[in-house]
Amino acid sequence: EAPILSVRDVRVHFKVKAKSRLPWAPVRTLKAVDGVSFDLRAGETLGVVGESGCGKSTLSRAILNLIPATHGEIVWMGRSLANASTRDWHAVRRDVQMIFQDPLASLDPRMTVGQIIAEPLREHRRDLSKDEVSRRVRAMMAKVGLREQMINRYAHEFSGGQCQRIGIARALIIEPKLIVCDEPVSALDVSIQAQIVNLLKSLQQEMRLAVIFIAHDLAVVKHIADRVMVMYLGHVMELADKHALYADPRHPYTRALLSAVPIPDPAIERNKVVQILGDDIPSPINPPSGCVFHTRCPRAEARCSVEVPLLRRVADGHAAACHFA
Ligand code: SF4
Ligand code: MG
Repeated sequence: EAPILSVRDVRVHFKVKAKSRLPWAPVRTLKAVDGVSFDLRAGETLGVVGESGCGKSTLSRAILNLIPATHGEIVWMGRSLANASTRDWHAVRRDVQMIFQDPLASLDPRMTVGQIIAEPLREHRRDLSKDEVSRRVRAMMAKVGLREQMINRYAHEFSGGQCQRIGIARALIIEPKLIVCDEPVSALDVSIQAQIVNLLKSLQQEMRLAVIFIAHDLAVVKHIADRVMVMYLGHVMELADKHALYADPRHPYTRALLSAVPIPDPAIERNKVVQILGDDIPSPINPPSGCVFHTRCPRAEARCSVEVPLLRRVADGHAAACHFA
């Protein structure tokens, strides 16, 4: 079966001015995403995991051209989007919807819940009557667990979890093929996180959606993902079927992330990764030579600071970028 999405050697490099008191501060290159490739099948859920600054959010925005890739190719439903017109992107944005980290900030405060959820239909389905739009909005609200009485109220009146349900309803109302979820539960209370992940999973199955689910730790994606991609400093460290990745991680970075998993509080988890690896994450402006992970890697040897490890197959459906994987 052909993938619905192919990401091929995508790079997103930014020109940034170095901090300097001099007027002629040198311009340098920030390599937010530096050569990422993967395929996504229809109905598949890919978890994308890494610490902040690993490029996972930038990658998700590059897929939608919200941040244009500076190199590489994105192929949607067999068609390269390299020279896509505004109209092509309009069509892609109907099929590919995004769910953001901060649910309240991503919802327009001047619109009612009903108007927010209806907005994509107004943009992409002008053929629908007012009654039909209203019917679909109410049906979608029920699906995501929102009471109908909320329809004329404003997002700021609701909790973070309910706002994320509104965001999910808005993303799904035009029946997309893919939803890109950028840390959709990171801003929510731990007690609410599982509810939202479970909701996304059941909707994914019911609507046969493909999902890219971005998170900063492996615990969050364990329940929902079919495959998991681990990123570090703009590079893919490991990409594998979920069961293989959790049972038999091959990359030292994945192992460090996994040994940080069991603690349920995300704030502590992040600290634990830092305890294991140290908190000196190098800057993507001046990334380490050779393996970008070598400055924090417990297994690093001399060749690691010289030779770039390529992402290579280590088992069926399992790839890792480490000389010793
Ligand atoms: Fe560590 Fe070397 Fe493997 Fe990179 S290539 S992950 S530095 S052992
Ligand atoms: Mg982010």
